[in-house]
Amino acid sequence: MRTIGVLTSGGDAPGMNAAIRAVVRAGIYHNLRIMGIERGYNGLINGEIKNMDLSSVADIIHRGGTILKTARCEEFKTEEGRKKALNVLKVFGIEGLVVIGGDGSFTGAQKLSHAGIRTIGIPGTIDNDLGYTDYTIGFDTAINTVLESISKIRDTSASHGRANIIEVMGRHCGDIALYAGLAGGAESIILPEEGFETNKVCEKLIKGKMRGKLHSIIMLAEGIGNAFELGKEIEEKTGIETKVTVLGHIQRGGNPTAFDRVLASKMGARAVELLLNNKSGRAIGMNSNKIIDIDIDEALAKKKRFDKEMYQLAKQLSI
Ligand code: ADP
Repeated sequence: MRTIGVLTSGGDAPGMNAAIRAVVRAGIYHNLRIMGIERGYNGLINGEIKNMDLSSVADIIHRGGTILKTARCEEFKTEEGRKKALNVLKVFGIEGLVVIGGDGSFTGAQKLSHAGIRTIGIPGTIDNDLGYTDYTIGFDTAINTVLESISKIRDTSASHGRANIIEVMGRHCGDIALYAGLAGGAESIILPEEGFETNKVCEKLIKGKMRGKLHSIIMLAEGIGNAFELGKEIEEKTGIETKVTVLGHIQRGGNPTAFDRVLASKMGARAVELLLNNKSGRAIGMNSNKIIDIDIDEALAKKKRFDKEMYQLAKQLSI
């Protein structure tokens, strides 16, 4: 193995830069040539590829986003598109590829691996929605961003005696709402994995108000309902003024936390190590605080486990 490529694909996540840096620096340490592929599989198909040296990844470990840029690429989902990509890899002499992204990007990586290119997946997504790993790169930063917002919203809602619904990302996986909700002391946490009853949410608000609570935070994952409709319904049923904040893409940005930088650095280095050992079709993850790698087919087949105990705990502590 002489030359490896690295790309970021799908939704961006803070810490992707730290992972790119780790792949480039660990690769150079092991005397490999590293090529950076821009705009995910798009850049792979179109040959948007540049040589990476030590200084091309200087001053990026602390930056959100991805210096290689990211994109979604429909063409790559077709056999023809992937043929073009395979040809480009051949032309540039790239024998191994590191793909940093979510499950969609991993499916693309899996197909390249089956087509004979040594490919390794690094999980980069704020959603933490991959079943085979405890954490994905970007999740910790995202929940800390949400926590900061909760604090700010608490200040203003306490002054006015309001309730606040904070809508966070998570269409199928409510981990952002669950972790940030528990850490931020939210009164209610509403997740796609669990149904909810508006009446129960209202009851809690009224009980809190009777106890002298000045404000209430309701965490809502985007996949479970419309925040504005819920706010209206709560206001009608309780008489408590209820504001809605949709955090949106704020959750995708910002400097990665120490946890995400360390995770990304370890995973990037593991990816290079695997390629040096002629491994292919592996997904890197973290289990019980250890960096692991498993077959990418197996990784994609593993269903995300909902942490019911944590959900129950959050409920218990917000009575
Ligand atoms: P994420 O990686 O964050 O889950 P997407 O699901 O949008 O993001 O996937 C990113 C890219 O991965 C897609 O735009 C496409 O290029 C590639 N991809 C997704 N699914 C497939 C598939 N079934 N076959 C080949 N490539 C895929």
